[in-house]
Amino acid sequence: MIVEKKLAKKLKILKFGDPVLRQAAKPVTVFHSKLQLLVDSMKVTLHSRDDGAALAAPQLGILKRIVVIDYQDEYIELINPEILLSKGKKVDFEGCLSLPGYFGKVPRAEYVKLKYFDRFGKENIIERKGPMARCIQHELDHLDGILFVDRMEEDHLQHNDNETKISLKSVLDLANGNLKNTPGQA
Ligand code: ZN
Repeated sequence: MIVEKKLAKKLKILKFGDPVLRQAAKPVTVFHSKLQLLVDSMKVTLHSRDDGAALAAPQLGILKRIVVIDYQDEYIELINPEILLSKGKKVDFEGCLSLPGYFGKVPRAEYVKLKYFDRFGKENIIERKGPMARCIQHELDHLDGILFVDRMEEDHLQHNDNETKISLKSVLDLANGNLKNTPGQA
């Protein structure tokens, strides 16, 4: 346990434009010590940031179906998560550690029933609503190569420092690997 903790390290978070973010992740099949180390490293990486609520493994260049969430006083690790049921719809602001500083309004289900495995392979079923349900849906999308900008209905995003608006098209170009229109570099 101590050895694993020592080896857990902060990983680099990929940004919009990296093609890995567009790929689907594969299920975890073996719950061995390597998985424990990876989940610990994801936790360390998430906790190294004060602007993020969650991370999915593909954001770290690892195409496995793993998510860590630390949001609203709840820390959860989701392995091979799967939404069994969702209800309602609400539009609200959302951001992403792979596009720091930008927020856009995204429609999401208000309630989700979720099946997942913990890091030791034990199956769990939970129900969450509101912002936590939103967070879960955002992270699960990452496992399928979907980014929050893909689901936006408005045509612009906002920067958190000011009222500056940036067009959704330029962010989608970026998300799709066209690096000519990098927001925030001006
Ligand atoms: Zn994200």
